[in-house]
Amino acid sequence: MDQKIQQSLKKTLENIPSHVRLVAVSKTKPVEMLQQAYDAGQRDLGENKAQEMAAKQPHLPNDIRWHFIGHLQTNKVKYIAPYVYLIHAVDSLKLLKEINKQALKNDRIIDCLLEFHIAEEESKFGLTLESAGEILKSDEFVAMKNIRICGVMGMATFTSDQDQVRREFKSLKKYFEVLKNEFFQDKLEFKEVSMGMSGDYLLAIEEGATIVRIGSKIFGSRG
Ligand SMILES: *Cc1c(COP(=O)(O)O)cnc(C)c1O
Repeated sequence: MDQKIQQSLKKTLENIPSHVRLVAVSKTKPVEMLQQAYDAGQRDLGENKAQEMAAKQPHLPNDIRWHFIGHLQTNKVKYIAPYVYLIHAVDSLKLLKEINKQALKNDRIIDCLLEFHIAEEESKFGLTLESAGEILKSDEFVAMKNIRICGVMGMATFTSDQDQVRREFKSLKKYFEVLKNEFFQDKLEFKEVSMGMSGDYLLAIEEGATIVRIGSKIFGSRG
């Protein structure tokens, strides 16, 4: 086995407490590298393109937990609905409706996180507390039987300003608490805060991440 991935995984895991789940982000990397991570014991893998995930999935073991971490277009949900473990970046009622529909078709319940806009920069996707509340209160959402909302997800600004990144993580944790109180008090599954990448995961863990999504630190830069 190639020792490099095994070693970088081990090193990464050393800094991650056992209550935090590591998703190894394997986007753009070949199946052989995903297999190496699997052989080193890693079971949670993250991809951000539906067709790429669909192309890799049949070549790898069945007990991999496939995390979809990217922006998901409604017309692509069908490619991942049969096996996806957790969809991290749900940011509209329209997308939830499609996930619910495809989950029903596959006779399963699909776990999802709500993506929040936490970066102080403009360009990123994501909900506000207000728009999330509107979705969760809507009759359409309440009627969905094949979706479970398990928490929140966010991406901090790509900056070396640690205070700013910390602020943004704090705001995501706050949104989690507000939603927990308002909509999910009796829902044990609503417990996940997905935040932190190669450059900022230690901060994210300090601020309450339960899932970190780490790519380049494990698999090398994506060129
Ligand atoms: C690519 C990606 C990551 C991992 O980024 P690294 O900096 O390589 O660790 C995490 N989250 C999302 C949403 C991504 O697209």
